Amino acid sequence: MKKISVVIPMYYEEDVAEECYKRVSNCLKSLKDYNYEIIVVNDGSKDKTLEILQKLANSDINLKVISFSRNFGHQAAVTAGLKHTTGDVVVIIDADLQDPPELIADMLKLWEDGNEVIYAKRKVRKGESKFKLYTAKAFYKILNGLSDIEIPKDTGDFRMADRKVIDVINSLPEHNKFLRGLFSWVGFKQVPIEYERKERYAGKTKYPFKKMFKLATDGIISFSTKPLKIIGGIGVFSIIISFLVLVYSILSYIFNWNELMPGWTSIMVSITFFAGVQLLAIWMMSEYISRIYDESKKRPQYVIDKKINIDD
Ligand code: UDP
Ligand code: MG
Repeated sequence: MKKISVVIPMYYEEDVAEECYKRVSNCLKSLKDYNYEIIVVNDGSKDKTLEILQKLANSDINLKVISFSRNFGHQAAVTAGLKHTTGDVVVIIDADLQDPPELIADMLKLWEDGNEVIYAKRKVRKGESKFKLYTAKAFYKILNGLSDIEIPKDTGDFRMADRKVIDVINSLPEHNKFLRGLFSWVGFKQVPIEYERKERYAGKTKYPFKKMFKLATDGIISFSTKPLKIIGGIGVFSIIISFLVLVYSILSYIFNWNELMPGWTSIMVSITFFAGVQLLAIWMMSEYISRIYDESKKRPQYVIDKKINIDD
């Protein structure tokens, strides 16, 4: 019998953990002809999430739990979950039921038809702030403009992938993983499936602006080196500007256009302008360097404190 693995990251999800488990396992049970496992990764929540999971796992050996020693972030949690999957096909889904688990059955049909990655595309997004919608849209525009591979927009981490694909993802050694980019990067036969993104079942978003910004920069930086090249462009542009300023001041000196303190404006403009350009350039470089530094330390991406129903 074929087996399906479902990976669910959870961070402070005590309000949704049980409902999520019920909805997902009901869906999986209704799929005859399949064995299943649900792997929940507790990403260092300090509320009752782990307690609830422990209780559920005591009466269901198909529920496996990995608990981190602290919060390592959504992408690390999913990465850890993927590493522990044993199924022929794997689904990644959020805990908050914004992504309907009922879609798994439809995805499975597409997988049976020979597709290797089935990514869920949001047709409508409910219950998300205007700010989030706009920033998300801008992000995908910038990302696709900058990177060499096409990363589908309106697509989160909700997707199904064949064992073959998961093995490739698991073998990638990079740290700051931007999974939805990597899933595009690996190739294979990919199809979208459209769905309506619901509101959160309960609780608040665990993606404050800071985490979103980190995810966005990880996405751009791990899939593009263009920002580095843009620095060069800005540099050339600012040199041209300063050259024009120079020409202007010489001409104005010769023809006496200007009786103001000669040079004051141009000096101020160029000082501020170059300071800006240089800081911008340094910031861009440091984003890359900090990631090189991260990778070179070779620290693990996460630390596991406890495993339930997993024996290795
Ligand atoms: N999550 C996590 N670690 C984090 C932040 C979020 O494991 O540091 C999980 C969270 O529990 C949820 C999923 O990632 O299952 C998506 O988070 P959320 O629904 O809060 O994000 P949003 O849908 O608002 O973008
Ligand atoms: Mg959510």
